[in-house]
Amino acid sequence: MNCPNCDEILIAVEKNNIEVEYCIKCKGIFLDADEWYLIKNELKLPFLVDDLMNINPCKDNCNEKPKVCPKCNQVMEKVKMGNLVLDRCPNRHGVWFEAGELSEYLNKNAKEKNETVSFLGEILYR
Ligand SMILES: [Zn+2]
Ligand SMILES: [Zn+2]
Repeated sequence: MNCPNCDEILIAVEKNNIEVEYCIKCKGIFLDADEWYLIKNELKLPFLVDDLMNINPCKDNCNEKPKVCPKCNQVMEKVKMGNLVLDRCPNRHGVWFEAGELSEYLNKNAKEKNETVSFLGEILYR
């Protein structure tokens, strides 16, 4: 799979059954839907996240350049989660986090710094 942002080949990083696709160049992360639910359940992230795969795409304030899903190459939809604007595959393959977006979210919302947070942190702050 290639990076939706810079077209570099994404590398798979795995720990405790959580696997993320990571771009070493722009440091973005693609989380597929299953991964997202695993992380969400493990970290007991707030309600907002339940809807990440279901909320309507946003129509305003989404002037970021369009990106395509690394799995199916369809243009992803912009969805808002808190103050973040994320890219979600229209076929629900997953969500793309730009560098810094996921760490910002986790810093605000993950109350305990457990193994998964450190694992993601290691990737994010590499
Ligand atoms: Zn990239
Ligand atoms: Zn897709």
